[in-house]
Amino acid sequence: MSVLPVFIGAVVFCFGLCVGSFLNVVVYRLPLGLPVHRGFSLCPACGRRLRGPDLVPVFSWLFLRGRCRYCGAGISPRYPAVELLTAFLWLAVWLARAGALLPPAGSFPPGEVLRAAAMLVLVSALVAVIFIDARHMIIPNSLVLVILAAGLLLCFTPAPPTLAERLIGLVCVSGPLFLLAVLSGGRAMGMGDIKLMAAAGLCLGWPGTVAAFFIGAFLGSVVSVAAAAGKSRKLGGRIPFGPYLAGGIIICLFYGRILIDLYLSLF
Ligand SMILES: [Zn+2]
Repeated sequence: MSVLPVFIGAVVFCFGLCVGSFLNVVVYRLPLGLPVHRGFSLCPACGRRLRGPDLVPVFSWLFLRGRCRYCGAGISPRYPAVELLTAFLWLAVWLARAGALLPPAGSFPPGEVLRAAAMLVLVSALVAVIFIDARHMIIPNSLVLVILAAGLLLCFTPAPPTLAERLIGLVCVSGPLFLLAVLSGGRAMGMGDIKLMAAAGLCLGWPGTVAAFFIGAFLGSVVSVAAAAGKSRKLGGRIPFGPYLAGGIIICLFYGRILIDLYLSLF
């Protein structure tokens, strides 16, 4: 095995950690309406400005044992979790696409570079969706737009899925869900989930999007049943659907074809 893929994989993982660190800022500030691209990082408890050594992804949290250096307030394990999840997803994108990017299969063909870049944008935005929706029960429009932008980039990459499959994907899940939302007076489904599935449709194409929706619904039901059994009644009994949909989208981004072929082989 050549050294190059391993080296690039390590670099991609470290970039993923840094992007995860930025996503922590997004997850914290976006629902509060604060600007994500400006200002210093502050301890939410004491307001002290955090400096370089406090901001190294994962390591700072481990080194400080999950406490603020200045006031000792606990820092949520959500921070290193977001960083690690992002890094592993970035690594997964590299592992999935390395064969198409590296010689002898190719020498970074532009279409495949674009596909890999769009996949990195997509998984990063989905990490933010998972953590924001889990906490605030909203999916910010700006994140949906980022996913839509990733989908537009993917339209310029070689098939599969074809452009027609991507365009059908825009409406094949979001259309019926929208109808359901209108008929139920907005109770059955949130608009954020509908917009998320439309944008995901452009990224995955219609077969992948349908699969992503059913996987998300399955994951959501399993967790709701487990939560009901454990009598946990957070958020007044409502369970955010976005994190499970995002999970389904991530699974189908990597394994969509395999899962669909597996499903069809049952008949
Ligand atoms: Zn503090």
